[in-house]
Amino acid sequence: MTALRPGKLPDVGTTIFTVMSRRAHELGALNLGQGFPDYDIDPRLTELVAAAMTAGHNQYAPMEGLLSLRERIAAKLLSVYGLPSDPEREITVTLGATEAIFSAIQAVVGAGDEVIAFDPAYDSYEPAVRLAGGRCVRVPLTQPGFRYDWERVRASVNVRTRLVLFNSPHNPACTVATGADLDRLAAVIRDRDILVLSDEVYEHVVFDGAAHHSVLTHPELAARSFAVFSFGKTLHATGLRIGYCVAPAHLTAQLRKVHQFNTFSIAHPLQHAIAAYLQERPDCGLELAAFFQAKRDRLRSALKGSGFALPPAQGSYFQLLDFSEFSRAGDLEFAETLLTAGGVASIPLSPFYAVPQRLPFVRLCLAKRDSTLDEAAARLNAFAARPSRS
Ligand code: GLN
Repeated sequence: MTALRPGKLPDVGTTIFTVMSRRAHELGALNLGQGFPDYDIDPRLTELVAAAMTAGHNQYAPMEGLLSLRERIAAKLLSVYGLPSDPEREITVTLGATEAIFSAIQAVVGAGDEVIAFDPAYDSYEPAVRLAGGRCVRVPLTQPGFRYDWERVRASVNVRTRLVLFNSPHNPACTVATGADLDRLAAVIRDRDILVLSDEVYEHVVFDGAAHHSVLTHPELAARSFAVFSFGKTLHATGLRIGYCVAPAHLTAQLRKVHQFNTFSIAHPLQHAIAAYLQERPDCGLELAAFFQAKRDRLRSALKGSGFALPPAQGSYFQLLDFSEFSRAGDLEFAETLLTAGGVASIPLSPFYAVPQRLPFVRLCLAKRDSTLDEAAARLNAFAARPSRS
């Protein structure tokens, strides 16, 4: 029998999110790992989904997305960012942000191209680059605080560089890029044939009165960026799997060439429902910062005195937990101990690194009921107080 070929991603396993959710379920642990809410969505959205199906919107949607939804997205870009956009030529509805990221990468990265990604980076970026035939050049975010080293970015760019993968608010670092970061990024790629793919799915989840700086609001970057957003995050419904990509017309045209053969078109009744919902509630999303900040503060104050240190969380719907007081183990091992001995599922950061660092952090999801966060804090406090520390 001939040996089976190893496939194109021989070193890639099942994502840490799927693994931890599965383990949490098996063990009956509290799941603060994979990022998804455990509370109900707005019942009005449920009604609108039912209404859209009843009204018969059950066949293929237009490939680029329902026009009325893209118009609502354009209205939002105008009201939130003061940004005029053309829904016909600059906005594409995708199967979650993940498809937008994947399709954009396939559209513009080819064999031999290099892509700058930061370390840590969301886990889907690098496999998408590799499947396109490209190679990720990972630039570490520096400690403490996961900061950009723009000189190192500059030194990593060369004639093969095609794309920079940017992400703010950052998952898993929980940091928010500044306007100065965008200026530095623009300066690095100026006069070069380099594009930007900016993952902004946590655009509304920025804490302590700070602002989200979208690449779309930076004219120089906007001219060469794909910006990616998520209704799953904004509407507290990750199961919708609907996101969108905003990019100049010439980049959108490239994206759609892949999108049409990748997912083709996105759930039609859901697009109708979201369009109607946005019409009724055009400001939805604006309350997310206060909503998640209250959850962040609740969890942080419940863990005060536990011995766990809590690095600043500037945005995203996560909070990092620093376990260095309790264990010298690596983060994968600590996450397993916390799961089995503490009854709390978290996400270690190693899977987000190309060059794993020995950092004492696991990630906790804040998008949970207050009662879930209180129970998680109680379990973490009990774990911290147990006599046998590993
Ligand atoms: N975005 C989610 C997170 O960071 C994971 C989604 C997934 O499982 N692919 O937790």
